[in-house]
Amino acid sequence: MRIRSAVLALLVLRLVRRQMALTQLRNDLVANVTHALKTPLSSMRLLVETLLNSPKLNEQTAREYLLLIATENLRLSRLIDNFLTFSRIERNKYTFKFHPVSAGEILVAAKAAVQDRFNLPGCRLELQSPPTLPAVVADADALVTALINLLDNAYKYSGDNKQVTLSASAHNGSVSFAVKDNGIGLSPRETKRIFKRFYQVDQRMSRPVGGCGLGLSIVKFIVSAHRGQIKVESEPTRGSTFTLILPANSSN
Ligand code: ADP
Repeated sequence: MRIRSAVLALLVLRLVRRQMALTQLRNDLVANVTHALKTPLSSMRLLVETLLNSPKLNEQTAREYLLLIATENLRLSRLIDNFLTFSRIERNKYTFKFHPVSAGEILVAAKAAVQDRFNLPGCRLELQSPPTLPAVVADADALVTALINLLDNAYKYSGDNKQVTLSASAHNGSVSFAVKDNGIGLSPRETKRIFKRFYQVDQRMSRPVGGCGLGLSIVKFIVSAHRGQIKVESEPTRGSTFTLILPANSSN
């Protein structure tokens, strides 16, 4: 009888803990989502108001402002995509569709998705890949999403002169995709924590780059689903390299 009560108490305790964790997660999500959405929205509002309030529109300035609005808009769409992905993951509703895909095509798609942001003075995004690469068995959309998140971070956490390289290589039955930046870098302690959901090294609400701390947790989820690994090489002020290592398609 005593054992049965103890087991029951343990089960109830587990249930309460799980419920508390879920409530905490929901609160974190609401707080982070609200804050992260505010930044691009207020930038867009400011840009539109400035344009509307100018007595005479100069075409070049109008174009520059529209370009900035388009960039903010893209940032907003990515944030929303990440929230939706995260919510699907949490509800076990994220399904992968695996097929053999060319690693080169994945690189090209990821680069094309972020290229506009790098078309600014002082920013460079370089693609490095050998002429032939083995295929990987992957969910192409998910893998491109993972690389876009890494490229977005490389952009966000680098100074005005952004030199980013997206590359792929093959060795010992695996294919590696790497994103290298010349940005602010990370300490070994931070490197261990950044894959936790909502974790951000700079936690000031006023941090300039926005984001909500979900991007890397999504990357990790996608890479694990591909039976892959993720590695980070980084040093404060000396940039970072994030590498995704996936098994090559064995029927290559
Ligand atoms: P977000 O960028 O939305 O804050 P992420 O999960 O993508 O969330 O990243 C978590 C944290 O890891 C970031 O807030 C940042 O502090 C750190 N980080 C991620 N990528 C880089 C990078 N390339 N260079 C330096 N710090 C980074």
